[in-house]
Amino acid sequence: MITIDGSKGEGGGQVVRSSLALSLMTGTPVTIDNVRAGRKKPGLLRQHTTAVHAAAEISDARIEGAEIGSKRFVFEPGEVKAGEYRFSVGSAGSTTLVFQTVLPALMLIESVSTVEVHGGTHNPFAPPFDFLANAYLPLLRKLGPVVEAGECQPGFYPMGGGSFRARISGRQPLQPLALAERGKLVRRQVRALVANLPKHIGERECKLIARKTGWDAKSFSYEEVKGSPGPGNVVMIELEFEQVTELFIAFGEVGKKAERVANEVLKAAQKYLAMDVPVGSYLADQLLLPMGIAASQGQPCEYRTGPLTQHTRTHIDVLKRFLDVSIDVAQDGDTRTVRLRQN
Ligand code: ATP
Repeated sequence: MITIDGSKGEGGGQVVRSSLALSLMTGTPVTIDNVRAGRKKPGLLRQHTTAVHAAAEISDARIEGAEIGSKRFVFEPGEVKAGEYRFSVGSAGSTTLVFQTVLPALMLIESVSTVEVHGGTHNPFAPPFDFLANAYLPLLRKLGPVVEAGECQPGFYPMGGGSFRARISGRQPLQPLALAERGKLVRRQVRALVANLPKHIGERECKLIARKTGWDAKSFSYEEVKGSPGPGNVVMIELEFEQVTELFIAFGEVGKKAERVANEVLKAAQKYLAMDVPVGSYLADQLLLPMGIAASQGQPCEYRTGPLTQHTRTHIDVLKRFLDVSIDVAQDGDTRTVRLRQN
């Protein structure tokens, strides 16, 4: 049994999900104390209990104390089984974060699984579906696992009502991966989504970004989302390079001008472009889990990124508790090289 102190470092939901993912793939029972102690409303929220129950469903786990609001719970996984799974966050909680909890274990077993998750697909403080599908999964495929995600029905905070499906092929040999450079820019795409709001919001967002960047008209699209139960507006900038794709997002809100949303996402993309590293701050924390798994199986991995976030530093500590890996961080001015090796 490994005991994780959920108040350490970032003290948020990622410690919970990552511990579950690692418990599942290593078969090690885990107790998590002080769950999300670093947050205003500590304890498990619906998104986290969905992740715990999803992890339990794929592994016939024994769980103790994993209710909404719980500050301590125990998770004892059984054998991970492939299947056709359907999980529902039951609110606008993040579908991608629930998916990332069960993904590592399912990609390491023999048979094919499909996973459908219902809830929010484009949530603040979580990977948007497009980031999962276009930034995260292509890098995961470079590590070996064949995982595809699609059929996204966008669902926005606070109404949710979104979903996507993913197919996880059975176990593939893991590969080493080094992400030192981005390579050349291959494609850029600006997408504004608007649900149950005037379409001109998306048009104005695209116009502002076009005016400020001079990017050609074919890089832009604004789309009305059908079938969303609530209102929603997001703008995403996707930058595809030879070695990596990064995706930035900003969210419309009541009383927030479309131009402000557009400026926000543009600033995030420009900050990344100015850094000249392949891996942005969100990918930096999310890549650790699959790279840690590959490293623990003798396939060394490394990536270059900017200064590490608290999320990334905390994630490194969690990985080291479950996996027999060393994770070193080398600093060179504003950039960091994170290296993961088997001990
Ligand atoms: P809480 O912080 O309330 O506990 P949480 O459970 O959603 O909430 P966090 O620990 O904050 O969890 O983890 C959020 C995850 O979402 C991190 O892995 C982070 O990299 C990812 N993330 C947040 N925003 C983005 C974004 N814009 N693009 C991609 N990934 C994101």
